[in-house]
Amino acid sequence: RPAFDPRVVKQDFPIFQNNPDVVFLDSAASAQKPQVVIDAVSKFYEQDYANVHRGVYGLSQRATDKYEAARETVRRFLNAKSAKEIVFVRGATEAINLVAQTWGLAMLKAGDEVIVTELEHHSNIVPWQMLRDRIGIKLVVAPIDATGGLDMAAFEERLSSRTKLVAVTHVANALGSVVPVEAIVEKAHKVGAKVLIDGCQAAPRMPLDVQAIGCDFYVFSGHKTYGPSGIGVLWGRYELLEAMPPWQGGGDMILQVTFEHTDFNEVPHKFEAGTPDITGTHGLAVALDYMEALGRDRILEHEERLTEYGADALARIPGVTLLGAGQRRLAVLSFEVDGIHPHDLATILDKHRVAVRAGHHCAQPLMDRLCVPATTRASFGIYNDESDVDALVAAVKAAKELFGR
Ligand code: PMP
Repeated sequence: RPAFDPRVVKQDFPIFQNNPDVVFLDSAASAQKPQVVIDAVSKFYEQDYANVHRGVYGLSQRATDKYEAARETVRRFLNAKSAKEIVFVRGATEAINLVAQTWGLAMLKAGDEVIVTELEHHSNIVPWQMLRDRIGIKLVVAPIDATGGLDMAAFEERLSSRTKLVAVTHVANALGSVVPVEAIVEKAHKVGAKVLIDGCQAAPRMPLDVQAIGCDFYVFSGHKTYGPSGIGVLWGRYELLEAMPPWQGGGDMILQVTFEHTDFNEVPHKFEAGTPDITGTHGLAVALDYMEALGRDRILEHEERLTEYGADALARIPGVTLLGAGQRRLAVLSFEVDGIHPHDLATILDKHRVAVRAGHHCAQPLMDRLCVPATTRASFGIYNDESDVDALVAAVKAAKELFGR
């Protein structure tokens, strides 16, 4: 295999030819799309489009075959046991809400506990709060330690026979902390709790094996894995999905309907009511194949190398504080500059064509815990290289000068 070269990879992304001077450091929010994905979506409309699972005619059959082939691609991407365990949803947010409102509503009762962590994105907090307010479960928060990683001892203290679910991120979007999910699964399973992993930031960056991790649910969003927005994945163990009631009702999720009664379709169709994002699903499969062809081990190496380079470079600027990520940080650098509000900083960086995110990163409880209103966040993708970090560093220095810092 040729060596992984982000400068070559970048040529696959037309956004950068169309915006040649932009230094894009916001892939944790959403990644850019390679030409193969853009082409796959438009070619699908041009050549293969029809509704799925309905028509007996050739075109509909072909669209259905591609839709189901995408499911198999996702199965491979996660090393799931069966493609039946792959449910297509709009994104991670929808996947977590689906689990909360089906598995959660059916399997949990008042007094049962769901553990989330201080690292979570709002989408892995709010659905559980909504469930709490509906049926009286207890939301238990596992804290971070002083370094910004998950405090494993404190997590273990919170585990008990009352714990029914641990809902935890794999890589934290606001800090980049890599969470030891295997250890969490092992400990959670010992008390009989299930584990849901939010893989939004991990899926674009590392090889994944849900069977090796041993978790019960794994979710991610296509738009962060170089695929289209509006498509995402819920993976769940077959037995769990089987036992869960359906979520939305409508076409495709049924076998037979009378006014008196409905027989629901099999897993995973039971959870896919209505016409799905047919082209998005195909685009997602092409994006995952694209990552596979680059080599997911090499993507991880690249992201790790760049993260280290970026962390070192930022740390060397006087007045810059990197917010902690615990033992291991991946692809996300959250930082503060003395005397400059993150929003002002991001605005100045934008004048230097450096695109970063400033704000709470949909992790307000984490910001509260860190006692900051917001942070500036630079995050990496497969098309970033050291020159992007250098541009960021130069722009931060220019901002400091402007503010007389
Ligand atoms: N979890 C994490 C860790 C995320 O980074 C994001 C996206 N910022 C989400 C969940 C929500 O994903 P989506 O908006 O695609 O549903």
